[in-house]
Amino acid sequence: MKEYNIAIVGATGAVGTAMLEVLKEYDLPINKLKLIASPRSEGKKIQYNKDTYIVQKVEKGIFEDIDIALFSIGSSNSKKFIPQAVYEGALIIDNSNAYRMDKEVPLIVPEINPEKIKKHNGIIANPNCSTIQMVVAINSLQKAKKIKKIYVSTYQAVSGTGQKAINELKEQSRAYLNKEEVKTEVYPHQIAFNTVPMIDKVNDNGYTEEELKLNRETRKIFDDYEIMVTATAVRVPVFYGHSESVHLELKKPYDMEEIRYLLSSDPNIKLLDEPENNIYPTPLMSEEEDKILVGRLRKDLHSECGLEMWIVGNNIRKGAALNAVQIAEYIIKNNILNGG
Ligand code: NAP
Repeated sequence: MKEYNIAIVGATGAVGTAMLEVLKEYDLPINKLKLIASPRSEGKKIQYNKDTYIVQKVEKGIFEDIDIALFSIGSSNSKKFIPQAVYEGALIIDNSNAYRMDKEVPLIVPEINPEKIKKHNGIIANPNCSTIQMVVAINSLQKAKKIKKIYVSTYQAVSGTGQKAINELKEQSRAYLNKEEVKTEVYPHQIAFNTVPMIDKVNDNGYTEEELKLNRETRKIFDDYEIMVTATAVRVPVFYGHSESVHLELKKPYDMEEIRYLLSSDPNIKLLDEPENNIYPTPLMSEEEDKILVGRLRKDLHSECGLEMWIVGNNIRKGAALNAVQIAEYIIKNNILNGG
């Protein structure tokens, strides 16, 4: 069997670390693995699969022997280094926002639009974590019932911002409980024992970039530009697991039994919906779970087409690392390194 040379760019970060775990579980046919991070981490040792890897920085020629490079280093760094990696011959799977809306770049959730992977021109984009879990949860409803409008409010974990934010929540919680001064560096406000209703920068229309990502990316992934999406994205003091309160307006009135049937027969989600027994998804449950969790289903009191639901997903794994590795697995299994 052909073996592949894989690079993880951002290997020391929250997503890069999860990628290493997922790669181990997926057992892809890897010949050579390169771990790359910023010059700050050059020379750092990472133990993986009984071997010790030395972290490298990006330099000329580093991607020349690489087949697939999984990038998780933020948009500005992706824009800086991905052109070089493509030029040197690697196929890129990028976790950042840099290329997601580029017409030439497929935006992929393998459970939904894997057929678009082969249309790549050297770069494939991984969607935003809040988009991935939402589209996976509602995919069967979009296919069977068609969605007219999505109103979503997110409750996003600090791990979505990266390792520094995880450390900040820990340190602020310790300081606050010990009645010491609480220092803020990563977020504009204290996140411990608080919520911050702004993620990423705000646009002229009042929406934040994170909210607009939910809009644009959902339409591109479903290839349905009639769907309306309006979002409020909120950071909450949770370490791992994003939650979303979603109100769907379907195109036609629906029967709740059919909705339950569609959701419970989707292999990519787990329906946890027995509120009378306190069974519904919480972010802690997503820590050990790769499926998207769905619960609190109920019909809008005022509309035959309105459906309320609560969605929880593991933002680091399915929201980033796992989705990227699943794309790599699809490329390898279908032998479409150079497109289809
Ligand atoms: P993180 O924990 O802050 O890690 C950032 C990584 O990027 C580190 O490995 C860092 O290396 C590396 N890096 C920084 N500057 C670099 C440079 N000049 N050259 C090479 N490597 C560099 O962040 P993260 O949460 O893993 O997120 C990384 C990316 O994934 C972002 O694009 C983010 O938007 C995306 N993403 C994250 C999530 C999530 O839930 N966390 C979800 C979806 C997408 P050093 O350790 O050496 O600084």
